[in-house]
Amino acid sequence: MQCVKCSHLASTRKNVVFGIGSVDAEVMFVGEAPGADEDAQGEPFVGAAGQLLTKMINATGLSREKVYIANILKCRPNMPAGSSGNRKPTADEMQTCIPYLHAQIDLIQPKVLVALGGTAMEGLLGKSGITKLRGQWHAYRGIPLMPTYHPSYLLRNQSNAEKRKVWEDLMAVMEKIGLPISEKQRGFFLRA
Ligand code: URA
Repeated sequence: MQCVKCSHLASTRKNVVFGIGSVDAEVMFVGEAPGADEDAQGEPFVGAAGQLLTKMINATGLSREKVYIANILKCRPNMPAGSSGNRKPTADEMQTCIPYLHAQIDLIQPKVLVALGGTAMEGLLGKSGITKLRGQWHAYRGIPLMPTYHPSYLLRNQSNAEKRKVWEDLMAVMEKIGLPISEKQRGFFLRA
């Protein structure tokens, strides 16, 4: 709450949304930036997309308490007066805020990072084009990094085919950290 590096965000935010979860987390999820719900509550991924992310985490056998969840930006990107919705963080805002995420990653030292959506990949690795990037291992400062679609994309595209892609990305993460995968889990979202 002391940070005013982005003065335009510091003056419009209700809360700094720093991150939540376990300091011993093996998996760390990185999203884009807080939305209105997150700004109001001071916790990442608590709105509609967040509820879906929680379900995805639970489906792996993990829980919000066992993983760590953070965003590229800790403050809600401000919107012009009178308009609702979200905007993508600017390159300047991302560059200004990224040292906090670096420090979080250094402290938690997760076994695996999951980048949720294109902005997370741009912020972490400077790479764009999530459709091509997802599903393949990358590395961030030596830590295996799996890019996948942002849960808000899945809220807009509710086909089993798209859900299956994200689930396959999460199964790769489960394999990487040695979590068991049941036959039932292997079959999730296989039917159209
Ligand atoms: N979307 C994000 O990228 N992060 C949040 O915390 C909430 C929604």
